[in-house]
Amino acid sequence: MVIWNLIRRCNLTCEHCYSISADKDFPGELNTDEVFKVMDDLKAARVPVLILSGGEPLLRPDIFDIARRAKGMGFYVGLSSNGTLIDESNIDAIDGIGFDYVGVSLDGIGATHDHFRRKEGAFEASMQASACAASAASRSACATP
Ligand code: SF4
Repeated sequence: MVIWNLIRRCNLTCEHCYSISADKDFPGELNTDEVFKVMDDLKAARVPVLILSGGEPLLRPDIFDIARRAKGMGFYVGLSSNGTLIDESNIDAIDGIGFDYVGVSLDGIGATHDHFRRKEGAFEASMQASACAASAASRSACATP
């Protein structure tokens, strides 16, 4: 299994972030063609599972192209998100990919989560994302970092 940090950018600044993310573009990240080439290499190496992560993977404009290609190549494909950007505007696109797994990370309940995420309302947004995913019949799961 490869947990693939496709982008360092993130809309949150969690206390525990190991990717030292921030809400800005970082230089030197793979473009779409380069991601596809790495994907080919991973397939050749017989990697069965790709978990698309970050940063916040939904901040990549090409995330659905990447996910669609990965599914087409036969990978088990997961999306690992902080959940705050999953809503009615993109749930159909997420559901349409047919992700095998959608993970929304949680650090605790309510204010505890918001404290670690350094964002008031992050817990509520993540819970709504989970509800959205569930109602779209995607598999959803809770994850800790
Ligand atoms: S959501 Fe993940 S990538 Fe974003 S700041 Fe928090 S730990 Fe880092």
